[in-house]
Amino acid sequence: MSPPSRTMTAAVIRRAGEPLAFEERRVPDPGPGQVRIRVEACGVCRSDLHLQEGFFDFATLPIVPGHEVVGRVDAVAPDVSAWGPGDRVGVSWIWSTCGVCDACVAGDEPGCARRQVCGVTVDGGYAPYLVAPAAFVTRVPDELSAAEAAPLFGAGLTVYAGLRAAGVTAGMTVAVHGIGGLGHLGLQLANALDARVVAITRGADKQDLARELGALEVIDAAEDDPVARLRDLGGADVVLSTVPTGRAIGLLLSGLKPRGALVIVGAGTESLPVEPKTVVGRRLRLIGSTAGSRRQMREVLDLAVRHAVRPMIEVCRLDEVPRVFERLERNEVRFRAVIEFP
Ligand code: ZN
Repeated sequence: MSPPSRTMTAAVIRRAGEPLAFEERRVPDPGPGQVRIRVEACGVCRSDLHLQEGFFDFATLPIVPGHEVVGRVDAVAPDVSAWGPGDRVGVSWIWSTCGVCDACVAGDEPGCARRQVCGVTVDGGYAPYLVAPAAFVTRVPDELSAAEAAPLFGAGLTVYAGLRAAGVTAGMTVAVHGIGGLGHLGLQLANALDARVVAITRGADKQDLARELGALEVIDAAEDDPVARLRDLGGADVVLSTVPTGRAIGLLLSGLKPRGALVIVGAGTESLPVEPKTVVGRRLRLIGSTAGSRRQMREVLDLAVRHAVRPMIEVCRLDEVPRVFERLERNEVRFRAVIEFP
């Protein structure tokens, strides 16, 4: 393996509201307990766009974004024995945790108040190299290409953690609301968990796709009342909503079975219309989800291999990301964009 050049071109968000900049940066050296990864693929997530817009008040700018990172270990600190050069690994949203707080001890890694977030508080994968703690990188199975695996580290993990938080098990009815970057993985992962999967979409164009991705039933919200249709099906145990529109999400609470759960993974700002009476009488649960634990990351990759869960991707180069951001804003990306590095 040839030694890396001393500098690299990285995409950087310097200040909230400013366009992505390209900077020559020094290739980072792994500190104690860390590995350096030569990035092969990094997903472009809507939250990277939110970061640029100033949505995350905990971000440390300037920052190299990117939290769906897959590549090969290229150098390790002297105290690292778990990994060696050439190992295929990935990094997700949770770059590190404190390991000792109540959330960490309970295995709730996204709940750690002292977590570091890849591409938000520490430099991420919009660059040819990044460093990460050896304990927080996850092995990538050979069956998955780097570009296929990358979105599983962000979108895939987020929807999976949401399904697990809702207690999805085999035979439950799971309705996935919205067939986009998150929803198309939600359908496949719910199907991989042996749920009875229902897709809720608008218009005819994604209905066949939803069935191909594992939906037994497809509800066209432009034609039918989703709540009435869910009730016809006996109600949903879980609704996984990936759509950021509060009004549409809130209505779906009425399509849940008693004790059912509405899982929200689309970080919108519109209010939900929710009658407390509906929630109380039916003893419903409302669950937000973002990212997941290292253990859940392993489970996602295992399910992806065993059940052929694959993101639908379009690939781009690092210098094309500003254009991808514009297309994300116009909802034109089908369904995840991934930067490939030469
Ligand atoms: Zn912690």
